[in-house]
Order: sequence, then structure tokens, then C-alpha cells
Amino acid sequence: MTEQTQSTDEDGRTDVEKLDKEYVFGTWSYQSEVEPTEIVGGDGVRFRDAHENEWIDFSGQLMCSNLGHSADAVADAIAEQAHEGAYFAPGFATEARAKLGEKLAEVTPGDLSKTFFSTSGTEAVEAAIKIARMYTGKQKIISRYRSYHGATAGSISVTGDPRRLMAEPGVPGAIKAPDPYAYGSTLEPMESLEYIDEMLMLEGDTVAAILVEPVVGSNGILVPPDEYLPRLKEIAHDHGALLICDEVMAGFGRTGEWFGSDVFDVQPDIMTMAKGLSGAYVPLGATIVTPEIADHFEDEMFCHGHTYAGHPVACAAGLAAIETYQEENLIEHASDVGDYLGQRLEELADAHPSVGDTRGVGLFRGIELTKDPDERVPFGEREDKISTGSTVVDDVAAAAADRGVYIANMINTLIIAPPLTITEDDIDEAIEVLDDALEVSDGAMNR
Ligand code: PMP
Repeated sequence: MTEQTQSTDEDGRTDVEKLDKEYVFGTWSYQSEVEPTEIVGGDGVRFRDAHENEWIDFSGQLMCSNLGHSADAVADAIAEQAHEGAYFAPGFATEARAKLGEKLAEVTPGDLSKTFFSTSGTEAVEAAIKIARMYTGKQKIISRYRSYHGATAGSISVTGDPRRLMAEPGVPGAIKAPDPYAYGSTLEPMESLEYIDEMLMLEGDTVAAILVEPVVGSNGILVPPDEYLPRLKEIAHDHGALLICDEVMAGFGRTGEWFGSDVFDVQPDIMTMAKGLSGAYVPLGATIVTPEIADHFEDEMFCHGHTYAGHPVACAAGLAAIETYQEENLIEHASDVGDYLGQRLEELADAHPSVGDTRGVGLFRGIELTKDPDERVPFGEREDKISTGSTVVDDVAAAAADRGVYIANMINTLIIAPPLTITEDDIDEAIEVLDDALEVSDGAMNR
């Protein structure tokens, strides 16, 4: 996009900002507090607003812009497909959808091979839940507290973090288990698994699936020990339940592997995807299953669908995005540059007493803040019911934003998930800014 010089009103708002505030519901917010900033464009790992600010996109927007903001091959594929034929009903086959299905079978673990397409992570999770229930003939889903799986009825019910509270009691049969959270939980990660084993035993033969993010994303970048996910799959299968891995955030190179499941060499029975699937160029979600699960629906009706299931434009974008990951070796790059990012974060941890923990894998990393490193005390929580974090972590993110680094934060943790195209020089630039911004939390420790 071209640079624009915008005129603003006495409050400093552009026309777009005024219109947006008046006519658009802000997500996850008190509407009175919504103050959207007008964005005018992006290039590579950077984006800019209408007030002449520019940021390094250190969180990939909502941890989804895996290809950055100049993936021309994806943009071209979208335009081409829209010209050739933007939409045909899901009952028709299109080249884009068929080839994307084939491509997903190639890049996902093991024999996962048949995909249901949708338009978001939440829909991908809804489909996974329905498939697991129909396949097993059982109803319950065990997920974990420190998780997010989506905002619609089923996916918010299996979400464990406080965003679920407004939707409770939610759909029946959504049961929560403890998490592999070595820094902040009283249970060791592997102990939490034995707890899940016992839960399954006590629930009897009623659990359809265990649903987990292989590496937990918005709840603080929690990477379990290597043996955790293989053992979880074993526990699920011992009790006749499926393992669903929600790869909406961890997928498509984020961890330095194609999928979070690959980090642990585990093939789930069902996998959900969105975000990086199209590099966030268009809304696209997907739920992929094993041949065995797919076969079940030869004789039982797959009673599910959406008008935009397998939308040709979205599938063309998905195919172009995956080809871009492959042609530009972005998964390997994410792994290499991710190691470098990890080292730089360790340096920040050494320099700042308010950094309690840094953790992560590849370009999927978190900095957890603490006001007392010995006792691991988080900064105070916000007072409202659904917010998940503290004002101090907000203030650190704001200080970074003021200095040109956009970084997301949740649950006392700064979340780093830049486009996979990021370079070591970009990382150095962002780390220098974070080094300054963390003075804010250091200064808040004794208050
Ligand atoms: N699952 C996970 C792991 C997610 O991180 C998200 C979104 N942050 C979702 C599901 C829901 O995806 P969407 O917002 O596209 O509906």
C-alpha cells in the first residue's frame, strides 16, 4: 500500500478510525475502550499506521502472519482464483481444493490424509469435536485449563482459559485437565499426565477425545517435555479416546517444524489448522483425519458443512502459502533463526529481574514476567472477569510499541511469534527495544 498522510480530528483520530469506532464491534473488549489504530500497509516483517508509525511485527499479528506482509505469490493466487471463478458450492470439486487436500496429506504427520475445510480455527475445532464424537460414539472431550480453542459454542466450551467464563456452562461433556506448565503449576508436567490418566479411568468409557495444543500458544507458550505428547497419545488410546492436536497456532513452521506435533514425533488422530495455513492472507481453517476415521464416514453420514467449506479462493491461497513455505525453505529458516531468538531471549532474562522465565521453540516463544523471581509471583491480575493478564505486561507491550516493536501479551507473558521470514538483524533490532521496554516491569517489581 502507498503511504498516506492523514488528516486527524482534535482527538487525533483519522476518518477511518472514527468510522470504525462508530460502526464496528471491537473483539474481546469493552466497546467504550476500543480505540482502533488505522493501518495503511505492511512490507515483509513490518507494518505501518496512518500516523507515520512503523512496527516490527514481533507477534505476527494474532500469531498468524507466518509469511509476513509481502507474500506476493499468495496475493497473486487469490486474485487469479477470484478471476477464474471465485465461488462454487462445496458439492463441486475445484483444482485449488483438491490440490490443497493433497498438499496437506503430504505435509501433515503420518497418514493424516483427509481434510474438512472451513474458514477459521474455531470452525476447525468444532469439526474435530463433531468428528470425534461421531467416530467414537462417545460424547466427552477432555481439554486443559491453559488452552484456547475458539469462540463458538463448542470450541469456547473446550477452551480452558478465562475467556470461557462468559459462555459457561457451555456445551455438556467438556472436561478440563491440568497443564504441562513447569514454571507456574504445582504439578510437574509428567505428573499432570498421570492425573489425566486417572480422569479417563474415572469417566468410564465416555470420553471421545483429548484435545490439546501440542505447544500451548496464547496461554503462555508452554512446551511440554519430549515424552509428554507420546505418553498422552498412549493414555488416550488405552482408554479408547482419540488424540486431537489443535495446530491452529503452532502449525505451519511456527515451531521450526511443520507442526507442533512433529516436535514430539507424534501423529494425532485428528489435527486442526488455520492461521498459518493461508499465512493469514484469507480466512481458512482445516481439520485433517486418518484414513481409518475417514472410512467411518463411508457408511455414516458426515452431517456437517458450511457454505464456504473449501472456498476456492481460500484454498488457492492455502496452496500458494504452503508452496511458499516449501520453496523458500521457511520451516528450516524458522528453526535456525528461532534458535538465535532463543539465545537473545536468554540474554534478556539474565539482564532483567522481572523476567521469570523464557521458553519456547522455533519462532514461538514467551517471556513470563514476575514481580518476585524467587516465589514466581505474577504481577497482579486485571480486575475484570475475562481479561487474562496484568496491566504491567500491557505496559511493557505498550512501551515496546512506542519504540517500534509490536508484541502480543497474555497471562503475564509476552508472546513472540514473528513472520517466519524474520532475519537475525530484525531480531537484534526488536531485542534492543524489548531490553528497554522491560525496564517498565523491572521498575514495577517493588510496587
Ligand atoms: N485454536 C487455537 C490453538 C488458537 O490459538 C485459536 C485462535 N487464537 C483458535 C483455535 C481459534 O481460531 P480462530 O480465531 O481462527 O477462530
